[in-house]
Amino acid sequence: MEPRYLEPEIETASREALIRLETERLRAQVEHAYRGSPFYRRRLDQAGVKPGDVRTLEDLGRLPFTTKDELKQSQADHPLWGDFLAVPFEECLRVHMTSATTGRPLAFLDTKDDWRGFYHSYARSLYAYGVRKSDMVMAAFSYGPWIGYWSGFYAAQDLGALVFPAGGLSTDQRIDALLTYPITVLGCTPSYALFLAEQAAKKGIDLAKQTRIRITWHTGEPGASIPATKAKIEAAFGARAFDLPGLTEIAAWGFECDAQAGLTHVHEDYCYPEVLDEGGRPVKPGETGELVLTSLYRKAMPLLRYRTRDIVRLANRACPCGRTLVAFEGGVLARLDDMKKIRGIIVYPRRIEEIVRAQAAVDEFQVVFRRVEGLDDILVRVDPSPSLSLAERDGLRGTLARELQVGLGIRVSVEAGESGSLPRWDHKARRVKDERTDVPF
Ligand SMILES: [Zn+2]
Repeated sequence: MEPRYLEPEIETASREALIRLETERLRAQVEHAYRGSPFYRRRLDQAGVKPGDVRTLEDLGRLPFTTKDELKQSQADHPLWGDFLAVPFEECLRVHMTSATTGRPLAFLDTKDDWRGFYHSYARSLYAYGVRKSDMVMAAFSYGPWIGYWSGFYAAQDLGALVFPAGGLSTDQRIDALLTYPITVLGCTPSYALFLAEQAAKKGIDLAKQTRIRITWHTGEPGASIPATKAKIEAAFGARAFDLPGLTEIAAWGFECDAQAGLTHVHEDYCYPEVLDEGGRPVKPGETGELVLTSLYRKAMPLLRYRTRDIVRLANRACPCGRTLVAFEGGVLARLDDMKKIRGIIVYPRRIEEIVRAQAAVDEFQVVFRRVEGLDDILVRVDPSPSLSLAERDGLRGTLARELQVGLGIRVSVEAGESGSLPRWDHKARRVKDERTDVPF
């Protein structure tokens, strides 16, 4: 039988062995960050910590956090790369940009070994989904400075799979390639997967029946860890869909395995995870907190205690796959930056997606946080499937309004417009708009 793990010596290692390996890497990384980068030397000095003080994984708690804003500020103050660059510039092999909604994106450099670590851990995830050397893979991410395309491409190649380079192709060209070539694995954002399937359906093409895709993986957005969105993607492609959470600055840090037990494993030998409560204390298994990651392998820009702003729940059960790596229940549960407060109630757009996607007749949706007559309000616009009658469309609106009120604990306005009237997304979706200018917290 084919092995289940790409690296069983890591993926099924004992806790003691993992702690030993991670401690060793952490010590070397703290030493390297302190010696190599003015940014960390200054911060550790300010905190009164010497690299030698970090002897165990628990000692990590003595180090200050790193935030994305601090990295951006460092690049603004010390153009172009910031003073957290910890190796000579000529050692760098790759540059990637984070996707910025405002301001200049963060530019992130990697050495040759850093880059290998990034795509090799990603390859471990692909292997866990069931991708093998015999597969033909399409990485349908944008060709440009963003890491999605490059990491997917290199990871598939690392497994020995044949990669169809689809970065610069249009959606029509990609559909044509999927119909023509024996492509069995597709990687893209969850929004794009649904867009691709919808575009194909408009041409009378059923991707589930007319292509050989058996595995899809999704990154850039949490959709594949939202059961209703995942089910929609799986039905559209007749394949199994997997979530791959990651950050340009740290790693493609997690993966759901082929057991699909609702758990996200963490490549903890590449990036050590802490899950912390609001007071910065580690949470217990079963509890939620902010994910803070320390890069254990990247040398060009080694990040210590990087606040991801992602909320995760530490699992308190083992996965049936037998992996011993730290795991979270259900992927990234919420982004702190996405949190909205409506009439005193905290609302996360992900929760709205969970409820809206559970309705199979919704093709696309949009969420608007707005103020009506001085009161905060949520408007959910849905794009109903073209097959619905007028009466069914009305019924859908009523059902959704009820489900959203129960699920969020707040009344929500729902509009069902003409089908095809809402924007579609070929990369990361921007379905959420906040029209309120001042948000009282
Ligand atoms: Zn597993």
